[in-house]
Amino acid sequence: MYFYTNREENESMKKLIIANWKMNPSSVSAAVRLAAKTEKGALKSGNDIVVAPPFPFLLSVKKVLKKAKLGAQDDFWENQGAYTGEISPAMLKSSGVKYVIVGHSERRRLGETDDAINKKIKASLKAGLKPILCVGESLEVRKKGLTAAKNFVKSQLKKDLKGLPRPGGIIVAYEPIWAIGTGKSDKPQDTVEMAIFIKGIAGSKAKILYGGSVTSKNAKNFLQYKEIDGALVGGASLKAGEFNKIINSANK
Ligand code: PEP
Repeated sequence: MYFYTNREENESMKKLIIANWKMNPSSVSAAVRLAAKTEKGALKSGNDIVVAPPFPFLLSVKKVLKKAKLGAQDDFWENQGAYTGEISPAMLKSSGVKYVIVGHSERRRLGETDDAINKKIKASLKAGLKPILCVGESLEVRKKGLTAAKNFVKSQLKKDLKGLPRPGGIIVAYEPIWAIGTGKSDKPQDTVEMAIFIKGIAGSKAKILYGGSVTSKNAKNFLQYKEIDGALVGGASLKAGEFNKIINSANK
């Protein structure tokens, strides 16, 4: 059985907020400082917080996290062997990582295929990690309307979740590509519609997060809805004050 099915976690009203630092900051000391400030915010929050730093900072960041959980930004589908440059789910697990982002559009843009993403999700689950699968349409698709966006996301989900049993507790981050790092977030009502649609495919126990230019100013507009289980935050997670306001807005 690949999917984890923790009833308590799936049924709680807690939001899941992920800090995706991407390829930032530039040094281990800056990463530890940012993590320590984020941990302070996490301690005050009633929500589940995940910090996903670059690989070289994982172990140092782990030392300052207590409430917040450690995440990774990618992994590979084999656990060991001649795969230069790759990082395995087992390695992440033994480094204290609990969550792993898979299929981020910034990786898909570099050539990651749905087949690779599918293998990564299976390997991550097998190793006991919680994968956060990222899906979302381009601006070109979205210009054709929400139905076109849903069809695009459906085809990604079908390929990325192929062979995985349903229903299960998978985490899916809906991240329209045109909203990532652009300052143009989705309309929360459209996100709710998309979240319901994704749950229909990924299973009622799936958690659906929103990602795309989330800030302290707009976070509550998304997180107020029960259909949106949390947020994947990129740019705004690099400023601890800003990220901690986002964490707090999930409490209200
Ligand atoms: C992301 O990294 O997945 C993301 C949504 O970035 P940003 O919040 O900067 O748009």
